[in-house]
Amino acid sequence: MSDSTPIRTRFAPSPTGFLHIGGARTALFCWLAARSSGGEFILRIEDTDRERSTSESVQAILDGLEWLELDPDEGPFYQSQRMPLYQAAVERLLDEGKAYRCYCSRERLEKLREDAMARGEKPRYDGHCRHLDEPPKGIEPVIRFRNPDSGIVAFKDRVRGPIEFDNRELDDLVIQRTDGSPTYNFAVVVDDLDMRINLVIRGDDHINNTPRQINLYHALDAEPPEFAHVPMILGDDGARLSKRHGAVGVLAWRELGYLPDAMVNYLARLGWSHGDREQFGRDDLVELFRIEDVNRKASRFDTEKLNWLNQHYLRTAPAARVAPELDWHLRRIGLDPAGGPAAADLVRVQADRCETLVEIVEQSRPFYADFDEFEPGAAKKHLRPVAAEPLKALRDRLVDVEWTPEALGQAVHATAESLEIGMGKLGQPLRVALMGHGQSPSIDQTLWLVGRDRALARIDKALAFIAERAAASG
Ligand code: GLU
Repeated sequence: MSDSTPIRTRFAPSPTGFLHIGGARTALFCWLAARSSGGEFILRIEDTDRERSTSESVQAILDGLEWLELDPDEGPFYQSQRMPLYQAAVERLLDEGKAYRCYCSRERLEKLREDAMARGEKPRYDGHCRHLDEPPKGIEPVIRFRNPDSGIVAFKDRVRGPIEFDNRELDDLVIQRTDGSPTYNFAVVVDDLDMRINLVIRGDDHINNTPRQINLYHALDAEPPEFAHVPMILGDDGARLSKRHGAVGVLAWRELGYLPDAMVNYLARLGWSHGDREQFGRDDLVELFRIEDVNRKASRFDTEKLNWLNQHYLRTAPAARVAPELDWHLRRIGLDPAGGPAAADLVRVQADRCETLVEIVEQSRPFYADFDEFEPGAAKKHLRPVAAEPLKALRDRLVDVEWTPEALGQAVHATAESLEIGMGKLGQPLRVALMGHGQSPSIDQTLWLVGRDRALARIDKALAFIAERAAASG
């Protein structure tokens, strides 16, 4: 395949759990390889293992890909709906003497394994059923592929370079189980052939399967595709990334408040590089990605860097990219996105102070919904009788001031000046009046985000609180 051949590749997850970080990165590399070469990205769900595959997990994978906007050009295809294709291929290999029925009992296979281990050898099937004169009665056989006994299987991996296996290390692989279902290595070859895949991109935990698959291609008189095995992802301690490192499902990162664009940028850099640049929008990636530039070495998951990228996208992404995610997070904590500032305004203000959308929405409740009570400590300190006059004076100005952060900032300053008080004497009481507590963005932006009607009502509420308190102590 020349460098300019459009890449036709696929992502082929087994639906036995969520779409985890490693799977999402493989999917991204597949998508990028296809997009950057003008080829196609195919999604195939490998659900032949009926016991371990679940529909929830299929859905979780589809949702994860959708969130990352890794849209397939073809599919999703489901292996469970393609059984006749595998059956036909099994029959063909049987007819051509390239596969055979194996009746060996579990006990016999177990014994073979134990004996090999005792001799310090790698367990392999001994080919016992290759030449059976009389098949035993009453036993459902599996079908095994007759792997070549000698010779070398060599391929040039697009990430790892040349790789070789000796056929003597490979045994006769089961291609069909007793229940008629195909095994992974077989179904994957039949499908990749049928789908005209020219580059298989997958995790390097599959490297050992590749020579077996190449032998199967040859048995089916077909040219194997090319392969690119991408290295695994490690946690910050250098061990393989797993649950104990924190969230491993890609949608869990959505729940934690990350933007899909940040995740895509982060995942791309987790193993792929282009000079020492760190920030890549989707279009940059499509333009620059080449599978050969994926590192051979495993990469470490680094939450700090993801946070940094997330904040970068929160600050710079166009409102249309951020708004749907922000709305999702607001609804998730019971807030109505229509009941407060526009997403772009909120994010513009909060992104400097927050790394995630979760932090943003948690600190933005008062912009979307009224609160019942002032936080007692803050109220005690700031909603005192001395604050009444400045708050009243400001309220009067707010009734018809232009509602922009600039004009609001001026109104606050002018009020403090006219009363000859420092800004703190007005700013902090105002903040507690507006937010219910003492933390918020700058006071002009806080006012702006709260909105005129709510600001006036909340100042009234604060004034009533101050009056009540004065009455109670007076
Ligand atoms: N279903 C396999 C997996 O999830 C696919 C491997 C491949 O891409 O060939 O690991």
